[in-house]
Amino acid sequence: MKRDLADIAAQTYDLLVIGGGIYGVCVAWDAAQRGLRVAMVERGEFGAATSANSLKTLHGGLRYLQEANLPRMRLMIRERRAWLRIAPDLTRPLPFLLPTGGKLSRHRLLLTAALLINDLVSWDRNRGVRPEWHLPHGRILSRADCFAHLPGLPDSRVSGGALWYDAQILDTEKLLRAILQAAITHGARAVNQTAVTGFIQQGRRVQGAIITDRLNGQSHEVQASLVVNCAGAWSDGLLALVDGRSATPTPTFHLSTAINLVTRQIVPNVAVGLPSRWQGRARILFTAPWQDCSLIGTWHAPYTGTTPAYQVDEATLDACLAEVNAAYPPAQLTRADVRQVHAGYLPMQPGPADAVRLVRESVIYDHARTDQLDGLISVIGVKYTTARHTAERAVDLALRKLGRTAVPCQTAHTPIAHVSPARPIDEEYPDAITY
Ligand SMILES: Cc1cc2nc3c(=O)[nH]c(=O)nc-3n(C[C@H](O)[C@H](O)[C@H](O)COP(=O)(O)OP(=O)(O)OC[C@H]3O[C@@H](n4cnc5c(N)ncnc54)[C@H](O)[C@@H]3O)c2cc1C
Repeated sequence: MKRDLADIAAQTYDLLVIGGGIYGVCVAWDAAQRGLRVAMVERGEFGAATSANSLKTLHGGLRYLQEANLPRMRLMIRERRAWLRIAPDLTRPLPFLLPTGGKLSRHRLLLTAALLINDLVSWDRNRGVRPEWHLPHGRILSRADCFAHLPGLPDSRVSGGALWYDAQILDTEKLLRAILQAAITHGARAVNQTAVTGFIQQGRRVQGAIITDRLNGQSHEVQASLVVNCAGAWSDGLLALVDGRSATPTPTFHLSTAINLVTRQIVPNVAVGLPSRWQGRARILFTAPWQDCSLIGTWHAPYTGTTPAYQVDEATLDACLAEVNAAYPPAQLTRADVRQVHAGYLPMQPGPADAVRLVRESVIYDHARTDQLDGLISVIGVKYTTARHTAERAVDLALRKLGRTAVPCQTAHTPIAHVSPARPIDEEYPDAITY
């Protein structure tokens, strides 16, 4: 592989994608597959920011039943199915168990009804999915069966358990790289360790970006008919580089920090929603088996800094462990049991200083409409699960803006080749890569 930013900059593109997280690579893949000339730049390593920190769940949206948001549920169900279909080697079905009893929202009858509705709403969840990856119906477990999975669960009011199926991504980074590889196979150019440090503008039209090689400091101009901002938590900082944005720039999301722990395995075979009451706050902590570990989370707090670069401090880590041990005393987790701390940012709604209400739906901004700035689109993603679908909508918009014939999206049906590193990962993904 030859790293040659000058060569990338010498060409003109339909789309320049900024940011190589799951949203950026999905946009690049879809756009390249639909015949657009695509370049993508990533400031660090592909997929190493928020996308590397997810709990790896492909959500079927059962929680949206609480608010009767069936369209959102259907979207999540379709997207879960799409990943199981196109990336079977990198995903698997994952049973989830939620103890019933105690609060009204976890009443056995209510959850029986919820599982039934979930099965009805997801009637086509297995269409086109490998038979061995089919997601069975949900069901209610007896108290004894629930305790067989969770011996030592402290809540004496537990009456049984609600069991349903979602899916898990086995390796989010590998999946992202497989999508990146698919984009490149369709002709996209992609380079890491390269930051967008400015925009090329003619008046109120964005015509490309200035990219700076972080390895040697050299800058180049890349011309593109459309620039797609997929910079995740860094989107607002990136948009601050655009000249002439409106006084109330869009998007203006507040950010929440989000933490997961990777620990010694505390519950095997099944993901669990652990009822937790901690420091006066009741909520559900999730733990999912992953490799020989448990993924546990997610802890959120409003982010008040200005340049997202998250380090989890010791006090926060201790508080997380204490909450897990209180919710599930058999865990007995200590610092020595923590293998990794995953920390990232998610968009949240503005609100009271101590409350986090995450943004539920991904948003696509056409800045021609929001800021009278043509040639620029921002994609703000909220879930790994829905990245493919959001990318589809973003590329539909791009085709319209470019005045191209609508080409149907194929990504929900195109199997992603499993990129299995033949060599150790450090050698296959050296510090700087250009495709
Ligand atoms: C703790 C946690 C748990 C989660 N769990 C789940 C889950 O179980 N299931 C689920 O579906 N979702 C989950 N999510 C959400 C999901 O991970 C995110 O929605 C998704 O990864 C966001 O992807 P992204 O591409 O928008 O952002 P990122 O992955 O952050 O990508 C943005 C990229 O832009 C790059 N960039 C920024 N500025 C520039 C620049 N100037 N030039 C070039 N590149 C730039 C960054 O380096 C970065 O790589 C979780 C998130 C967190 C934090």
